[in-house]
Amino acid sequence: MSKDYYEILGVSRDASEEEIKKAYRKLAHKYHPDKESGDEEKFKEINAAYQVLSDKEKRRQYDQFGENFEQAGGAGGFGGFSGFGDFGQSGGGSWDFNFSSGGGGFEDIFADIFGQSGFGRSAQARESKGSDIAVDVTISFMEMALGTKKKIELYKKTECPACHGTGAKDGELETCPRCHGRGTIVKNIRTIFGTVQQSITCDRCLGKGKVPKVKCSECGGDGYVRRYETIEIDIPAGVEDGQTIKIPGKGEYPRGGGQPGDLYVTIHVQEDSRFEREGNNIISFATIKFSQAALGDVIAVETVHGPTKIKIPAGTQPGDILRIKGKGIQRDGYFGKGDHLVKIKVEVPTKLDSKQKKLIQELRENGL
Ligand SMILES: [Zn+2]
Ligand SMILES: [Zn+2]
Repeated sequence: MSKDYYEILGVSRDASEEEIKKAYRKLAHKYHPDKESGDEEKFKEINAAYQVLSDKEKRRQYDQFGENFEQAGGAGGFGGFSGFGDFGQSGGGSWDFNFSSGGGGFEDIFADIFGQSGFGRSAQARESKGSDIAVDVTISFMEMALGTKKKIELYKKTECPACHGTGAKDGELETCPRCHGRGTIVKNIRTIFGTVQQSITCDRCLGKGKVPKVKCSECGGDGYVRRYETIEIDIPAGVEDGQTIKIPGKGEYPRGGGQPGDLYVTIHVQEDSRFEREGNNIISFATIKFSQAALGDVIAVETVHGPTKIKIPAGTQPGDILRIKGKGIQRDGYFGKGDHLVKIKVEVPTKLDSKQKKLIQELRENGL
């Protein structure tokens, strides 16, 4: 290790534990060998750096003695990755970390990065689920307020109708010649402890142990075909701008059959010049004359549920809010209904004819 641990993690020498953890998490995520952007060498470096900097005592010694602090004698058995109980590859060909000692909170971090199934998940399991798809959908304010259904067209991998995803002509399969039906093959794997022989998922049959006798002519043996699919998305009333809706099973179909991925739809809500939103309430503005404010009146109001009328009580003040019950967002799973709120502005006349002027002067003389 000739590089500076702080540099490796991209943090300053006085970085807090939290900053170090955060930097590590980000980099480990990026360079994890299972990922497309993965880089095993980098991943090792990052882990080595974190192993030291996440441990108060080791960090103190590293700061004091530098990279050779282990030889300086203080570290007492920092002979490598004491935090890792077991580090290698699982039968599935994916990285399998089995943390038995406390280390520096690796369990938390990895559970976080890789989800609950974490490192135990095999390449086989990954292959048998198709990729997820993410799309953006823009809806109007009215559609947000009332809920809507949107149809989108996706060009994606779908189950081959000819072979039902098996990839085999007439569905006929035979034992995989590469792995002889075991689903795994033995391969030399480089780990941070050196080269280790591991059984990994067979890349020919993807762990299934069987391959098509004759490839399906429709899909060429992949089990999927790319085509357009129309998907109707049910968007509930009150969806938040930026909210993502998950539609299970509407992602891509996996090679060789299995479970399709999921579809993630991120909703964008357009603005509306007439309305604003406040939680489940809809707000609009009404400008009334001061005579209406003083004497009261009935005015027309536009709501998301259509036009209605509202009574202006005598003595209404500028900024008063009038409530129309139940004319807001009717959101599933929320107690009570959203209301429509009318915020009142009172118009002061800027031009008066002589008669109006005279009347207002009379008002003034009467104490108004
Ligand atoms: Zn097919
Ligand atoms: Zn095989």
